[in-house]
Parts: sequence; C-alpha cells; structure tokens
Amino acid sequence: MSDDFELETLALHTGIHRSQFNEHAEALYLTSSFVFENAAQAAARFSGTEPGNIYSRFTNPTVTAFEERLAALEGAEACVATSSGMSAILACAMGLLSAGDHIIASRSLFGATVNLFTNILKRFNIETTFVSATDISQWEAAMRPGTKLLFVETPSNPLTEISDIGALASVAKKAGAWLAVDNCFCSPALQRPLQLGADLVIHSATKYLEGQGRVLGGAVLGSRDLVMEQGIFGFLRTAGPSLSPFNAWVILKGMETLKIRMEAHSSNALEIARWLESQPGVAKVHYPGLVSHPQYDLARRQQKTGGGIVSFELKNGKDAAWRVVDSVRMISITANLGDTKSTLTHPATTTHARISQESRDAAGITDGLLRIAVGLEAAKDIQADLARGLAAT
Ligand SMILES: *Cc1c(COP(=O)(O)O)cnc(C)c1O
Repeated sequence: MSDDFELETLALHTGIHRSQFNEHAEALYLTSSFVFENAAQAAARFSGTEPGNIYSRFTNPTVTAFEERLAALEGAEACVATSSGMSAILACAMGLLSAGDHIIASRSLFGATVNLFTNILKRFNIETTFVSATDISQWEAAMRPGTKLLFVETPSNPLTEISDIGALASVAKKAGAWLAVDNCFCSPALQRPLQLGADLVIHSATKYLEGQGRVLGGAVLGSRDLVMEQGIFGFLRTAGPSLSPFNAWVILKGMETLKIRMEAHSSNALEIARWLESQPGVAKVHYPGLVSHPQYDLARRQQKTGGGIVSFELKNGKDAAWRVVDSVRMISITANLGDTKSTLTHPATTTHARISQESRDAAGITDGLLRIAVGLEAAKDIQADLARGLAAT
C-alpha cells in the first residue's frame, strides 16, 4: 500500500494478503499452528532464517493483517497485537523495564492501568509517580535517574483533560526516557501521537477500533527497534497474551468504518455537550470540542475533533445523577465505551469507586458527575433519553 493514501483508504486496503482462493474480504485463519513442507523448513522457520508462521502465540496471518492495518493508520513502523488493552500496557512494561526503573504517569489514567502500576509493577520494584495530566512542570520535577517511561492518556477519562503530547515528548527526550500514549479515546482517526513525538502508542482495540462492543483486543505501536527488538514482542510470544485470530478478524472489519464512525461520534457528542450546557440542572460539561473547555486550543491543535466522550456534573449531586441514570430507557447503563450504542456511567460509584472520596474530589470526579460515551443514535433521541431524568432533578 502506498503511503500517499488517506486514512480511510488505508483502513480498507492495508494488510490484505489473499490466499489461493483469491477471497475479497479478509480471511480468518482460525488455526493454532502451521504445517511445514519438511524437516529442513521446520528448522529454518524455528531458527528464523526463513520467515513464516509457526504457532499462533507468535504470529498468525489474520493477526498480522490487523497489525499492518493499525500500523498504517498510526503511521508506525511496527505494531504488535495483544489480547486486550491492558495486556498491551503490561507488554510495554515487561518488555522495556527492569527492577529499579521508574515510571511517571498522568494521575488521570484508566483504573486498571493505575492498579497495574501501583499494585503489580511495584512488587517488581518498578515505581510510578503520578502527576497532573496538564501541568508539564510536574513531569519535569518528577524526573529521576531511573526514569524510563512517561505514560499518558489524552483526552483523559472521565474529565476529558488534554495533555500536550509534543511538550511531554520533549521532556521525555531530554531525559532519555520513552513517552507512551494510550490513544484509546481518539483512535488514529483523530490523533496520531507518533507524529507529535511520542515513542509508543497503546491501544485498547476493544473500544473504537472494533467499535461495536463485541471483542477484546489491544496493540503496541512504535519504531521497529522499540517494539520488535527491545523485548515487547519477545515478552508477548513467550508469555502469551497474544490476540486471537478471531478477535483480530472482528476488529479488522470494525476498523474499515473507523473514520466515519469517529466523525459521527464526535458530531453527536458536540451536539449533546452543547445541549447539556444549556440545561438548568447541569453545573458543568466537560468536552474538548466546547469553547468552554480549559484546553480547547490545545485540543484543536492536537486532535481532529472532540471524540465521543462527554462528562457532565449535576447541580444536585449523587441523587440527581442516579435519577438521570435510572430514567434512561434507550441508553445502556454500562461502563464500556467506544460502542455504536450510547453508554452512561456514574464514575464515583462504578469505575472510580475504589478510589478514596478525597482523591476523587481532588481529581474532580464528584458525586454528581456522569459520563456518557455518545453512540451513533440520533442526537435528539439521546437528548430525549437524558432529558427525562434531568427534568426530574
Ligand atoms: C478500556 C481501556 C483500557 C483497557 O483496555 P482493555 O481492552 O479493556 O484491556 C486501557 N486504556 C483505556 C483508556 C481504556 O479505555
């Protein structure tokens, strides 16, 4: 595929290697292992002198197609697929870090990522310092000799804070550390962190890449040296959190509509965010596409549109928030996101319930906050579903 093609074209045509049957759609190679012609070929494959598939924990043609397609979309030299977004983050840590190394991470990270860093990696003597998503000076101040990895998620969940990827890349470079960006909320259709100077991109393909809420998957992208040679791929093929070919095939088909979905999610979300701002029961709306967003200008520079996630705070706290949740008839009450169907969640009692009240308040995740992952329904139907509960507050 030519590098000159636009993202939507690459999303349809990259990674296709037709079999002898010349199928039009991507084939699903549901097989755990591959057969060799003879003993010499088996030996050559295992020694690496002949390229080719051996066993699906290492490589599989359907998984390779997914990796090639996502690499094209992110403009990455290399991509390795993983069984989930979390195993992509784990593979980065296990592949690149050693005991004694130090991570600096945004305080506004996905809950399981915080848990992985604080409770699991800590046991292997890899420490993490958590800092503000938006204040670069805190990242500089947290640097120490063993700092190897800077880790950020932008926009953040659920408050949609925007971190300056280019500025963080400079901080990382100066210290000889790597910058990893979890690009789950934007997807490459809206934001390409490697072009802004990041060293690694992490994906939960479970979300917008697949887009229809069916399977789990993940990926790590970056230079060939970092992803393939330095240990990330080595960890995956040895330890086994590889992507199943079936899931790869489902995600491949989802990626074909990524661009039009992200545009539709964004325009729907902007309409809902603006409408929410006009509602008397709503104290505050967090959405990067709103002029009222504190990093509106940075968001406009860094991402194409605002994405599909909107959060909003009700004036009357938890009771009002729960009333909105309990009044919806069409929107799904679930913590997942990146689905064609809209989902609604109350972060303080679900995704962020294990964090202390003080930390939640400090982070701005108040009891009155709701997060909606805006789907592809008609905006007026989403509004009507939220309006019922808002009217009652
Ligand atoms: C869901 C999510 C993850 C974890 O992905 P899984 O596929 O569920 O393992 C990581 N980061 C972000 C931002 C997410 O939303």
